[in-house]
Amino acid sequence: SAAPSRRRITILGSTGSIGTNTLDVVGRLGGRESFDVMALTGNGNIALLAEQAKTFGAKLAVTASDEHYEALKDALSGSGIAVAAGKSGLAEAAAMDAGWVMAAIVGTAGLRPTLIAAERGADIALANKECLVSAGALFIEAVRQGGGKLLPVDSEHNAIFQVLEENQRHALERIILTASGGPFRTWTLREMASVTVETARAHPNWSMGLKISIDSASMFNKALEMIEAQHLFRLKPEQVEVVVHPQSVIHSMVGYTDGSVLAQLGSPDMRTAIGYALTYPRRGHLPVERLDFTKLSRLDFEAPDPDRFPALRLAREAMETGGVAGAVLNGAKEVALEAFIAGRLRFLDMPRIVERTMAMLSQLPAASSMDDVFAADEKARQVAAGLL
Ligand code: NAD
Ligand code: MG
Repeated sequence: SAAPSRRRITILGSTGSIGTNTLDVVGRLGGRESFDVMALTGNGNIALLAEQAKTFGAKLAVTASDEHYEALKDALSGSGIAVAAGKSGLAEAAAMDAGWVMAAIVGTAGLRPTLIAAERGADIALANKECLVSAGALFIEAVRQGGGKLLPVDSEHNAIFQVLEENQRHALERIILTASGGPFRTWTLREMASVTVETARAHPNWSMGLKISIDSASMFNKALEMIEAQHLFRLKPEQVEVVVHPQSVIHSMVGYTDGSVLAQLGSPDMRTAIGYALTYPRRGHLPVERLDFTKLSRLDFEAPDPDRFPALRLAREAMETGGVAGAVLNGAKEVALEAFIAGRLRFLDMPRIVERTMAMLSQLPAASSMDDVFAADEKARQVAAGLL
């Protein structure tokens, strides 16, 4: 029988950038000696999912796509590892009895399984920012009612989570999200008009999945993170600031009413944030590159350019509108992003599609249930697709 110190964990989206980093951290912090891996989920990369499930002795492996079910079954035959697929498979993975769940599926596809885990009371390590952007207060409430902790994994929010002390909340004035500025920080609008997926995905500092890399280039990633921060830390829109900091050494900052600013610094390596969420409130030992301050010749800061990066203004509008505006922004953004990746939309047209969708759906009522959130997301996708 399991020793009391063993922990049951599940990783939704284990084959992605965050997922593989999470398993790396799990391996370094004890692996199968310390953790019972309940469920791992992926999508099309069946070979990797099967290998992860065997290495970590998972109880259940799930592919999100039904068409890969047979391949996953074959890859795990004789292993004793259960296999499932599709939305019901993801739901099954989320429902398994793990006390800690990494939510690392990309996009709104992550919302339903993460909610299932939250409602049954698991601690949620949240990489999937879309949960907060789209469902905001309803998602926070689901976690609260379930009784688990909400542990931010997005590096900026994890930084704030590390330095923001609850007993000083009365003096919290603002939070300052840092942004690398992405690959087009110094490009002109004219140059940005014809960028390709290949240039947009090449992030200067962080190695991440395709979609978030392109969102970083358009600064839609920072836009989502502003809304994410508003909900996570219960802030007014004007309390959320963004500063471009090309070195990505300061991961974000908290400003207090006495003028103090506290920051969390580190190398651009997601394993620090993932590890903090896994071992909270303690810290583990991780082989992340140490900052050498004698070699950091400088830290630069600049204001984001609103003309080249309209995503930030759209986020602020969504924060002020409230209700389902975040779901609309995100749904439209996902459609525009997929069209850009498919070569059907130009880079600078992504924010235009989102802006027009938001304008057309500005009268949607606030969500009173998750169904309203899904309906707003779906409506935004339809409108955005019609505008392409
Ligand atoms: P990724 O594309 O590398 O991985 C996504 C994971 O989700 C994979 O396991 C994939 O199989 C799975 N998946 C894809 N489509 C799916 C679907 N329709 N249904 C179910 N599963 C599906 O993405 P990532 O970079 O790891 O990002 C994951 C999430 O974490 C995103 O919400 C992203 O914004 C957030 N995040 C990522 C980073 C990072 O450094 N990569 C940093 C902060 C936040
Ligand atoms: Mg981030």
